[in-house]
Amino acid sequence: NINGTTTLHNGVTMPVLGLGVYKAKEGSEVIESVHHALDAGYRHIDTASFYENESGVGEAIKSSKIPREEIFVTTKVWNDDQGFEETLKAFDKSLEKLGLDYIDLYLIHWPVPGKYVETWKALEKLYSEGKVKAIGVSNFLEHQLKDILNDCSIKPMVLQNEFHPRLVQQSLIDFCKRSQIQYEAWSPLMRGEVFKNPLLKELAKKYGKTVAQLVIRWDLQKGVVTIPKSVHRNRIFENADVFDFEISEENMRRIDALDREERTGAHPDDFM
Ligand code: NAD
Repeated sequence: NINGTTTLHNGVTMPVLGLGVYKAKEGSEVIESVHHALDAGYRHIDTASFYENESGVGEAIKSSKIPREEIFVTTKVWNDDQGFEETLKAFDKSLEKLGLDYIDLYLIHWPVPGKYVETWKALEKLYSEGKVKAIGVSNFLEHQLKDILNDCSIKPMVLQNEFHPRLVQQSLIDFCKRSQIQYEAWSPLMRGEVFKNPLLKELAKKYGKTVAQLVIRWDLQKGVVTIPKSVHRNRIFENADVFDFEISEENMRRIDALDREERTGAHPDDFM
């Protein structure tokens, strides 16, 4: 169900479905989006300092009256704030904007060359101090992940990457599985691009679901945590209504085969 969770390698439970809020505007837009999601049963919100809407996310959580510990909140350290001391400062700023006394998951947003290992050490410190329940990375390929694994005292719990039927990166997912790192999808709907795909349309019809629901379900059956974004109440509810059907193994493989290594966002080796 919507409150399904996965257990990270440190024992923390993470809801498998969350709301993404990239481009949800600070103020009433993001506040209302988070309220719609909490009404629909979501208990996981994905923000970032870069999105400039942490205050609204925090305000929505507070005004929902849902106990803090029932909601899983992710935020991320932005590229300009990387480095050891800078990251500690950026974390405090995020915490203050969110109005929370801990974060559930703190991620390195992008692997800034020459900086991400130092940034990781700051995340380890924040984790050891109990200010964040889990730490991870985003937009990392295997070589960047290995740089961390070779040099860390705490292994990342999560890798959040662009992931949708046009960009699967199965070998990276398998590497994460072997390393007990939970894979998480950003832009799971390829920012709307998936809706045009004929196979996805055909399969959605067959299951009596929308393409969005089919693709979100595909994420979950692949063991990938997913955070589709919408600010519209009906779509936020629609995106969570994915627990009453199952995609067959054969159709899972047909969706996997749509992979073209196509990205909507930047490449992790070339984003600066
Ligand atoms: P997405 O793939 O979730 O697509 C969102 C868009 O799809 C919406 O703006 C809307 O236009 C459309 N949509 C959503 N549900 C729909 C529905 N049911 N029917 C029709 N249209 C629908 O794109 P995203 O926002 O880029 O990614 C999701 C989240 O991932 C972000 O909000 C953010 O939290 C996170 N993210 C992280 C990174 C990173 O670098 N770590 C990068 C991008 C996004």
